[in-house]
Amino acid sequence: MARQKITEALATGRILVSDGAWGTFLQKKGMKPGECPELWNLEHAADVEDIGRSYIRAGADMIKSDSFGGTSFKLRHFGLEGRVAAINEAAAGISRRAAGPDRWVIASVGPTGQMLALGDVTEEQIYEAFREQAVALAKGGADALCIETMSAIDESVLAVRAAREHTACEVICTLTFERNTRAEYRTMMGVSPADAATALLEAGAHIIGTNCGNGMERMVEIVREMRAAAPAAPILVHANAGLPKNVNGADVFPDTPADMARLAPALVAAGARIIGGCCGTTPAHIAAIRQAVLAIVAP
Ligand SMILES: [Zn+2]
Repeated sequence: MARQKITEALATGRILVSDGAWGTFLQKKGMKPGECPELWNLEHAADVEDIGRSYIRAGADMIKSDSFGGTSFKLRHFGLEGRVAAINEAAAGISRRAAGPDRWVIASVGPTGQMLALGDVTEEQIYEAFREQAVALAKGGADALCIETMSAIDESVLAVRAAREHTACEVICTLTFERNTRAEYRTMMGVSPADAATALLEAGAHIIGTNCGNGMERMVEIVREMRAAAPAAPILVHANAGLPKNVNGADVFPDTPADMARLAPALVAAGARIIGGCCGTTPAHIAAIRQAVLAIVAP
């Protein structure tokens, strides 16, 4: 039997668990600074697959893929812009194998690093880059595309539209917010959670949300704002393991698996329906969130 769609599972009242960080996991597996993470899909496929399997074993209902920097704009830094299709198809295929028949692959799509506001690139070029990546991820077996860590609305909307118009995948889009000095949440480009929610849904996103930048505690407030603007939309959160502390020049994420699990009920009460991790989270964090979610009955 074919897998249900994620939104169909959510409609039955399930709270779903997503996976945790991939980048730091690759470093633990030996990726060096300056290496192209996405090239690991072609050159160290078994290591990449093990990351996905680790999160499945921890109880994740869905896993991402090693394709965050998989647009031609990002791969160009490594001279790999001609291999977008092969790299992304491999990335989705690896996660597909790791996920097995019953879990979802929500393939990662990150920002291009280009700013439309600066006029260096056109909307058509950005759209085409996302289209190229999205099609390859879908071909590799992605159930959904997880457009993440976005901060500009125009770029987010182009990514969502490219995914909707050229694949049959469900489309998730999450932005990264920071709390400013007036205690408001805004992306780096000044977008509020409410404005993001409205624009993403209008562009055709099936699931909206927020990732990175904050621990669970602040994510509760961001979800509340998105929920108020979009009462019916499924909301996904990939939270960092707290706000990083700089220890000897390195970012250390302070929240333990138990810390994150403790806040899972508050996140669900605020309106989140899919909970997972971003920077600093490990399979242990996801396993703890899984246990916490088992005890939650959807409101
Ligand atoms: Zn992150």
